[in-house]
Amino acid sequence: MKRIFALLLVCMLSSNCVLARDYAKLQIKELKHAQKYNTADKYFQNKEISKKYDVSAVKNVNIKDPKILKLSSYEEISDADYKKKMASDEEKYAKIEKSLKANRTDNFNAQAKGEDFNKVYRIAEHIIRANNLDYITWRVGIYKDSDTPNAYSTNANYVAISTSLYDTFANNDDALALVIGHEMGHNLLGHQQRKVKTIHSLQKLTRLIKLGNGGAVIAYVAKKRKLLIDAKNMEYAADIEGAKLAAKAGYNLDKGSKLLSFINSLPEYREYDSDHPIGKHRLENFYDNRKYFTEDQWAEIGKYNIYNSEVMPVKISSDRRSVYIGASEDDASSDLSYRPESMEDVYLRFAYKSYLNGEFNKADGYFNKYFGINSSNAIAYLYASYNSQADYEKTKGKSHLEKAKEYINKAKNLDKNNKYINEQYDELNTL
Ligand SMILES: [Zn+2]
Repeated sequence: MKRIFALLLVCMLSSNCVLARDYAKLQIKELKHAQKYNTADKYFQNKEISKKYDVSAVKNVNIKDPKILKLSSYEEISDADYKKKMASDEEKYAKIEKSLKANRTDNFNAQAKGEDFNKVYRIAEHIIRANNLDYITWRVGIYKDSDTPNAYSTNANYVAISTSLYDTFANNDDALALVIGHEMGHNLLGHQQRKVKTIHSLQKLTRLIKLGNGGAVIAYVAKKRKLLIDAKNMEYAADIEGAKLAAKAGYNLDKGSKLLSFINSLPEYREYDSDHPIGKHRLENFYDNRKYFTEDQWAEIGKYNIYNSEVMPVKISSDRRSVYIGASEDDASSDLSYRPESMEDVYLRFAYKSYLNGEFNKADGYFNKYFGINSSNAIAYLYASYNSQADYEKTKGKSHLEKAKEYINKAKNLDKNNKYINEQYDELNTL
């Protein structure tokens, strides 16, 4: 009996026993599997996610925006002037390209060709100039890894991209700009220093645990947990900082965001024990923040900075895997250093964009936070007045109208001659 059973089992497991295998059915089963787990169309999921954050126009409410609210001080550079400057820069770039390509790097440890170095140089150099980051020497490298699309940065202003990530986006400069921007973002926001600090205190706790300190175990677990949460938050922050840096350099974030959908297509790992968020959450973070981006103004600021700076020299590093981009000694503006957006700027940007997005309540909150820091910006009071008026039109709440009048009075006190302020003042007095 036992023998018959064993024979039956062997027969069941062996495919030879299946007389007619239905391969068509198998195919359908596999397709169902791919659909169920959403592995087939994952790459395009960002379309679904970006739709979720679509800013739809507010109905029956007049959103006034004479585009006079400047979020930073900069001068607009005319297209003609900018073109002229770019043309003269282009001559310098051509010389650099020639020398990078002539530099034979196909020795035993070279990971990229001159044209690849030229590409990352052009992107990084543009980001550096657009964001006034030329006070330090940056290194950008390409390292050989055909299997793991990845990039990292180190304390020494070093940005490294794996060949698999680089090759994937070799024809998409906007995505490469987001990669380079993200890694520069880690550097500029001091993420490495923050991580190293926690790692040091973890090492200290490990020593205490070895000495038999029971309490140190709890502290260790808690610290380790915090490190993972912090590390994930740093990724979200670097994605946004990188997008800002790239946008200032004039890169297209729509095309660049293919990077994030690509990351979303990579196998997911468990989020709770990893220091990176899953791709879906990175995409959501990107679109959620992008509602409050001011890409047009950022591009203008970048243009201004590029116009007022010179082409930066570049050399292949001694490690032959990277290039270093640095201003010559007399050009380096040592008194400059990068400052991420100030709280003042962040509040005003969120207030302005929340208003445009029709999130009037949220906008008013941000305007108030902004006025807590800066109460001398007449145009900001004008926009706060627009916002409260829009909220009044939407809700018919009288308190919003009162607020709109209050704000315009403040604006008028600060600037009596502004045409838009006077128009808003007159209009509100008829309501
Ligand atoms: Zn990162």
